[in-house]
Amino acid sequence: MEGFDQIIDELRHTLALLPDKRTGSNTQYSMQDAGLVAFSVFFMQNSSFLAAQRAMQESKGRSNAGTLFKTGAIPTDNHVRSLLDPVEPKALFPVYDRIHAAMRAQGVLDGFRCVGGTQLIALDGTWHHSSSKVHCKNCSTRQHKNGSITYHHSAITPVVVAPGRSQAIALRPEFIVPQDGAGKQDCETNAAKRWLAANGAFCHTGNDTLLGDDLYSRQPFCRKVTTTSSSSASPTRTSTSTNGWTSSSPAQACTR
Ligand SMILES: [Zn+2]
Repeated sequence: MEGFDQIIDELRHTLALLPDKRTGSNTQYSMQDAGLVAFSVFFMQNSSFLAAQRAMQESKGRSNAGTLFKTGAIPTDNHVRSLLDPVEPKALFPVYDRIHAAMRAQGVLDGFRCVGGTQLIALDGTWHHSSSKVHCKNCSTRQHKNGSITYHHSAITPVVVAPGRSQAIALRPEFIVPQDGAGKQDCETNAAKRWLAANGAFCHTGNDTLLGDDLYSRQPFCRKVTTTSSSSASPTRTSTSTNGWTSSSPAQACTR
């Protein structure tokens, strides 16, 4: 991989494969176009879809943003929402894997090693929706003393980090959503356990340290880390090995 263009090509490749729920002949815009416009909102740090559209349409209809992402037609925000809303977030997970695998293969990840040659993976939860009114069946809730309720969506967003490096390499997220059959709300710790189960083997290199706040210092999570370490490793999603993980938090370190 040689930089930005190839990363965008990986994104374009995955977006082109997104499921398209349209059944009629109104296919002026492709799923890839919709995905690229949505991505550009965040990449260009636009304040809104409208600002992103303007950025992509400026300069005689062919802007820097449009050139950057090699977009075709530029759909409106309503088109983008109607095309992308039915798509499961996991449809984009291959982007994380493909970029991570390319960085690993080209030795980029080696530059992220730090003390003792360990790879640092930072785990943290973040809210990406919060409202007292707008909510859905996948919302988590927080009840306040005055009886009001805040509805929110959140996720664990693990990243590979290293001291002195401003870049971080994003790994697959794990969403904090109500789980089938669970009596209680989902929580960050349970999401982190699921993330480990789903991604531990893929991310494990044999010398890895998980970083987290005090939530991650509790015994059940530390046990999960150590049991994952006994059955995970290697850069594929299928193989096994036996090297160790370390989990570390400011409050308490749990090491093997
Ligand atoms: Zn919701």
